[in-house]
Amino acid sequence: MREIAAPTPLGPVRKPPGPVVIWNLVRRCNLTCKHCYSISADKDFAGELTTAEVFGVMDDLKAFKVPGLILSGGEPLLRPDIFEIANRSKALGFFTALSSNGTLIDEAMTRRVAAADFDYVGVSLDGLETVHDRFRRKQGAFAASLKAIRLCRDADLKVGVRFTLTQDNFADLPGLLKLVEDEGIDRFYFSHLNYAGRGNKNRKDDAHHQMTRQAMDLLFDTCWAHTQMSSQRGLQREFTTGNNDADGVYLLHWLRRKFPEKEAHIRAKLAQWGGNASGVNVANIDNLGNVHPDTMWWHHTLGNVRERPFSAIWPDVADPLMAGLKQRPRPVKGRCATCAHLALCNGNTRVRAQQLTGDAWAEDPGCYLTDEEIA
Ligand code: SF4
Repeated sequence: MREIAAPTPLGPVRKPPGPVVIWNLVRRCNLTCKHCYSISADKDFAGELTTAEVFGVMDDLKAFKVPGLILSGGEPLLRPDIFEIANRSKALGFFTALSSNGTLIDEAMTRRVAAADFDYVGVSLDGLETVHDRFRRKQGAFAASLKAIRLCRDADLKVGVRFTLTQDNFADLPGLLKLVEDEGIDRFYFSHLNYAGRGNKNRKDDAHHQMTRQAMDLLFDTCWAHTQMSSQRGLQREFTTGNNDADGVYLLHWLRRKFPEKEAHIRAKLAQWGGNASGVNVANIDNLGNVHPDTMWWHHTLGNVRERPFSAIWPDVADPLMAGLKQRPRPVKGRCATCAHLALCNGNTRVRAQQLTGDAWAEDPGCYLTDEEIA
C-alpha cells in the first residue's frame, strides 16, 4: 500500500542470505486451541532440545546467516530457559520475535519480555471475546491476551495481533481491525487457514473462498485507509497476510478496480518479492530438533539438528520435496502450471496440494482466484 502511495525504485529479486527460522522450542501449552497445528497439551513432552543443544544450533544458524528467529511453541514462555535463549539470540544479532498466546504475559512477565528486548511480540486473537474464548476453550483467555498486548505496547515493545480466518470468526474481523486501530497496535497479521477447499469444480461457489475474498477486500480497504492516514499522522501500522500467496495476485485485481495506473508497478514489486518461500526463505525447527520446510510440514522431516547441522540439512536437495521447493519455477501442475501469475505467487502452499491429492506439485486447492483471474 505504501508502494501505491509513494512508489520506490525496483530492487533486485528477494534473496536473503539465509532463511528466517520459526522455532517451536516447546510443545507444552497452557491452552488447547481447536486449530493448533502442533497438537500441544499442558504436559511436558519428552526429548525436547536442551538449552545447550539450542545454543549449539543457534551458533550454526548464525554462521549460516539466518537473519531472524521466531521463538514459538506450544507456548514458548513455558520453556524455563526462554529468556536465556532470547538473550543469546539477541546477543548473536538475530532479529528475535516471540510468538505467544499472551495469557501468561502479566505485569511481571512483561518486564522480563521487555528486558529481553524482543524485536517483536506476536499474540494470537481468534476473534473478539466470545469467539476467542470458545476457540481457545478457556474463559478469560481473550481478556488475558488483550491485557498482554496492552502491557507490551505500553512497554514500547513492537506488538502484533495474529488472526487466523475461519468460517466461525469471519464476522469478528471488522471488530478486530477496529480494535487494532483503537488500541494503537503496531501490526495485524492475517493468516489464512490451511484450507484445501473442494478443488476447482466448486471454486466459485466455495463458501470459504468467497469469505476469503470478502476478508481480503476489507483488509485491503482498511490498510489503504490507514496508509493515507499514516502519511498525515506519521503512524506506521503494518498489515501482513500469510499462508496464501494468491493474496498478491488478488491485490492486483483490487488495484485494477481502484488504481489501474499502479498495477504495473505493483506487479513488478510482487515479482521482486517472488511469492511463496517455504523451503527457501522460511524454515522450521520443531521441539525435537526436526527440520521442516515450514510449520505446516511437520509430517515431512528433512533431518534432525542432533544428527546433522541445520546448515547441512537446509541446502541439501537430495530430498525431492526440497529440490522442488527450491526450483524456480517450481514443478507445479494443473492450473498453477498455466497460471499467468506463477512468478508472483510461486505456486502458493504446496502442503495443501499434498494433503488433498497426495501430490505436492498438484495445483493449490486453496487458491481462491477464479479461472478468469489467473488467465
Ligand atoms: S493458480 Fe496457483 S500459481 Fe496461480 S495464483 Fe492460484 S495458487 Fe498461485
